Amino acid sequence: MLLPIVMIPNPNLRKRSLEIDLNFLATDEFKKLVPDMIETMYKKDGVGLAAPQIGKNIRMCVISKEAVKHKKNDLVLINPVIKIISKKTFIDAEGCLSVPKKVGKVKRPKDILVNAINELGEQIEFEAHGLLARVVQHELDHLDGILFIDRTNDVYDVEENKDMI
Ligand code: ZN
Repeated sequence: MLLPIVMIPNPNLRKRSLEIDLNFLATDEFKKLVPDMIETMYKKDGVGLAAPQIGKNIRMCVISKEAVKHKKNDLVLINPVIKIISKKTFIDAEGCLSVPKKVGKVKRPKDILVNAINELGEQIEFEAHGLLARVVQHELDHLDGILFIDRTNDVYDVEENKDMI
């Protein structure tokens, strides 16, 4: 089911989302939420989608397999935590499904270590570099009420957004 996207200036995008109790993973609501978020991400041309963007202030996001090299499946990250593992940063253009028709150049750490729970309730840990590191950081920002426009002064208008996160 395609879910409606929450857009600025909705104040719910600015809240810190709550940790997910792992009992939630056994509920029908969760089992429907995961495929619905993935479907919404793809239909809206996104490479990532965080729960606050579909109106749920809980710490979870989905990331398209397009952003994940060598992986066949989309990622579901629950209660994700990151650690920066190198001093390298890089600047690239970012767009967001919740900030329509805007793109900004955002500087972010290039190499991170991600810890999270997956949709099966398993603890996962992986390194992310480049695009995937960017997408994970953008989604984690959503869980803390931060938008990419807070991280750059270099924002410009576009007619159509692609690869939004
Ligand atoms: Zn976004």
